[in-house]
Amino acid sequence: MLIVKQITDLQKIISNQKKTGLVGFVPTMGALHAGHISLIKKSKSTCSYTVCSIFVNPTQFNDPNDLLKYPKPIELDIKLLEASGCDLLFLPDVSEVYPEGSTKKRNFDFGNIDKVMEGFFRPGHFDGMAQVVDRLLDIVQPDKLFMGQKDFQQLTIVRAMLKITSRQTELVICPTLRESDGLAMSSRNVRLTKELRLQASIIYKTLTWAKRNARHKKFDALCEKAYNKLSLPFFKPEYFELVDGFTLERLNNYDDSNFIIACVACWVGEVRLIDNIIIKNEKV
Ligand code: AMP
Repeated sequence: MLIVKQITDLQKIISNQKKTGLVGFVPTMGALHAGHISLIKKSKSTCSYTVCSIFVNPTQFNDPNDLLKYPKPIELDIKLLEASGCDLLFLPDVSEVYPEGSTKKRNFDFGNIDKVMEGFFRPGHFDGMAQVVDRLLDIVQPDKLFMGQKDFQQLTIVRAMLKITSRQTELVICPTLRESDGLAMSSRNVRLTKELRLQASIIYKTLTWAKRNARHKKFDALCEKAYNKLSLPFFKPEYFELVDGFTLERLNNYDDSNFIIACVACWVGEVRLIDNIIIKNEKV
């Protein structure tokens, strides 16, 4: 696997690869786990060249403490990527991605989808996320972009951004990989204490409970009950919502949409975890 830090070097390699095949791109913030690797594998199954980036983007951390504590096990990440068959790791410094004078954010109008849920609780987060994905897509110019359902709101916004910017890149959504007890794999899980790690599976259990009960219960009552289930000692749910999978607008009943998703964010001790489950998917 090639490791490239400079944009000019990367672009030479990619334009060569694009002459003969498809380039797949998996952007990450490192601290890789099997969930990330599943995206690499998916890219390798349909593209002839797979690029992964590791870049802990400072502009999407609304909490400086979160940025400081974000795990950065780069040697391990490189080993995992090599074993996965990834072709190239793009590992830029902050100054390479945001050279002086280029930090100005492009202002996208996403309407409602970046204001609710994560957008409400992490102000500025999606501005930073959209800025870095837009910048990375400018740099890499991939044919396909692989992202996880785990960050459902993020990929909804990226889908909107691809449309606004009229990019040709195809967004490929990959399923959430989970630990054996259902906890969604996340780079943040290593920061959980042993006790709280054991209890954290309540998040997935609550999502599956909501899915089982969604057809027959009013959604506000369902969400309130889910919220209560999550309110264990040292757990602090921020939201539990059932929304339309495209507009992310809150729904009242199972019949209100053909595409319904339950999204949750919950503090577990000092670690903030997010997860979601598709409740109904009859997209036309
Ligand atoms: P991150 O490094 O957390 O920014 O994530 C990089 C990419 O990996 C994003 O597209 C995430 O949605 C995806 N991802 C994170 N966790 C998982 C998981 N458990 N299963 C599948 N994809 C994931």
